Amino acid sequence: MPLKAELHCHIEGAAAPELVIRQAQKYGEDASPYIQNGSFVWHDFTSFLAAYDFSADLFRTEEDYARLADHYLTSLARDGAIYSEVFTSPDHATKAGLSPKAYTDALGEGMLRAKAKTGIEGRMIVTGVRHVGVESIERAARFAARCGNPLVTGFGVAGDERVGEMEDYVRAFEIAREAGLGITIHAGELTGWETVQAALDHIRPSRIGHGVRAIENPDLVRRIADEGIVLECCPGSNIALKVFDSFDDHPFPALQAAGCKVTLNSDDPPYFWTSLKREYDIAAEHFAMNEKALAAVTRTAIEAAFVDRKTKAALLARLNGAAR
Ligand SMILES: [Zn+2]
Repeated sequence: MPLKAELHCHIEGAAAPELVIRQAQKYGEDASPYIQNGSFVWHDFTSFLAAYDFSADLFRTEEDYARLADHYLTSLARDGAIYSEVFTSPDHATKAGLSPKAYTDALGEGMLRAKAKTGIEGRMIVTGVRHVGVESIERAARFAARCGNPLVTGFGVAGDERVGEMEDYVRAFEIAREAGLGITIHAGELTGWETVQAALDHIRPSRIGHGVRAIENPDLVRRIADEGIVLECCPGSNIALKVFDSFDDHPFPALQAAGCKVTLNSDDPPYFWTSLKREYDIAAEHFAMNEKALAAVTRTAIEAAFVDRKTKAALLARLNGAAR
């Protein structure tokens, strides 16, 4: 089994169905409209969001969030992952009645519990949500910059790409950059190559969340390769959301062949009936990647990780040790 690393996963979207059912029991809610036979059920973006919000709403206390991070990272480690970055969303915390600080520290506590059991390293990327608005994104950036949790190492923007313009988020990203945080932004998933170009022009991230629709513009693909931008690819998510018709139509191999740095990620795994392990399996099956090629993808992810130099060196040493 190849060692794995993940850069793109939304923590609220990572809650496994069995954990959500347990949380629903705890709070006296009925999960059956959203989870059947151990899987989330949805059929369009609206019902996807309904299931997502139902489940996210079942995480309310610090202990709930600690359990969520612990459960997810422990399951990743079981599948061979040595490193995990998750997107966190202070807006979710506020909705649940927790302060962003309490929410973040609780997730961090869960990550440390998973690390104590399995050795997996975890970090957090605080995200603003586009469809909530520019002000909340800047609030999230200010929070990320001064929250003081050592596991918060990045800032990003997620949410509906069709809302807002990249220029709107420049100030938020400047706040994050000044605080020394790593920068990533979702683009080129539900919208075309233009949003990837706008992200590179205005936000100057080292990584792009998805970015796969850059494939529509060969000049942009060349620019991504030349600038060494890392793409956080999520093939299972893309197929579930019908961004591409099938895995055989997915541009992962073409982007890689063009010299772009690509990584494998699960996005909101149980909602897309996937896992990080399944993404590696998809790459093996549909993108003709052998163990060595998959290990190289893990290396790319660790090299692009928002983590201190010492931890990165230790992770690379683990990877090298496993390759021997
Ligand atoms: Zn995402």
